[in-house]
Amino acid sequence: MHKFRTVENVDVAWHTVLMRVDLNVPIRDGKVTDATRIDRVAPTIADMVNRRAKVVVLSHLGRPKGKASPEYSLAPVAPELAKALGQEVKFLPDCIGPDVENAIIAAKPGEVFLLENLRFHAGEEQGDIEFAKSLAKLGEIFVSDAFSSSHRAHASITGLAELMPAYAGRLMGDEITALEAALECPKRPTAALVGGAKISSKIAVLENLVTKMDRIIIGGGMANTFLLAKGIEVGKSLIEADMVETAARIMGRAKETGCEIILPNDVVVAESFNANAPHVIVPVDKVSADGMILDVGPKTIETLKTSIGSLATLLWNGPLGAFEMEPFGEGTFAVAKAAADQVSAGKLVAVAGGGDTVAALNAAGVADGFTYVSTAGGAFLEWLEGHELPGVVALLDNQASAHKDGQLEEVR
Ligand code: AMP
Repeated sequence: MHKFRTVENVDVAWHTVLMRVDLNVPIRDGKVTDATRIDRVAPTIADMVNRRAKVVVLSHLGRPKGKASPEYSLAPVAPELAKALGQEVKFLPDCIGPDVENAIIAAKPGEVFLLENLRFHAGEEQGDIEFAKSLAKLGEIFVSDAFSSSHRAHASITGLAELMPAYAGRLMGDEITALEAALECPKRPTAALVGGAKISSKIAVLENLVTKMDRIIIGGGMANTFLLAKGIEVGKSLIEADMVETAARIMGRAKETGCEIILPNDVVVAESFNANAPHVIVPVDKVSADGMILDVGPKTIETLKTSIGSLATLLWNGPLGAFEMEPFGEGTFAVAKAAADQVSAGKLVAVAGGGDTVAALNAAGVADGFTYVSTAGGAFLEWLEGHELPGVVALLDNQASAHKDGQLEEVR
């Protein structure tokens, strides 16, 4: 298990804390449409406020490509953050410069600022140390609560961690603890359920997981290419012809490592990729030439429920079918419910994350029933690939940290 510095035992009173969070939330017509990410970081911010720190919140939003542009402004997030915290949040229309510095200097302990989108400055994504220094000027302590951005060596992620005493916030701590419990030192037997549209986006994930997991359950569009690699015809289903060899290689590797690969044995086949399209349930080797696999069938659901019933740890990424369209979410929903039941019976640790997974579990109504659901997309996948995330490495206990004047010092 990694040990990293957390902000829990640090005296932050009367200090200015720069807090990097991920407030990259969906905004429509100037209104935040999903506040999940805001609600998740609010406890760390509130904790800093209660401990009498001045809190300066830093985030990116979207991809403005280094230029200020109103559609990517974080201004609409400030009232939502204020609501989540139950106190005023002052929005500043830039994230560096004398006006920002002076506003923060004039503030009192317990005040919270939200600064404008870091990515309005090209130096953020370039990891420019000069830009990081302009940010570091704003405070004395750096707290990172942005696990979902930690796969990027950006100025506000790794740059600030190099320049200032740097600590993990609560959300960062929870994410890493949950992922380590599922991947690094899990209770066995373990399984990863990997679904979603394409193998090509998850090859590295699968190659890492076959070396770590006892079983891999493959569903969704990507299962079709595995079926094809086993010589099973899948009609008009989504496949990646150039990935057939890769699928065969992954299955070969799984044999070597003793990892059981579970593929669908029956499937829901539709005539077209539409909600409520006419459909039939057939064994996996009976898909018609013009049929399209859009979900796993009832026998597969039973097999997966039984498999999950004997597991101690489940890692879930990606849906088992085209869950957004009725009735092709049934496989995902039934298996997710079975996992949540095992969690509530205290028999399973189930950790989910990445892209559409949160939406699928929300649609199944079981996101709260999992042990942990990460809102991170790319960072979650990179972790599953076995990569060290630069923003997490920067917070490890044995890393040296530097003060603003450039003098290195060991934080503990
Ligand atoms: P990903 O972002 O890779 O996790 O992929 C999620 C997407 O995969 C969802 O939008 C699903 O609708 C889609 N998906 C899952 N199963 C299938 C399938 N059998 N055929 C086509 N798309 C699918």
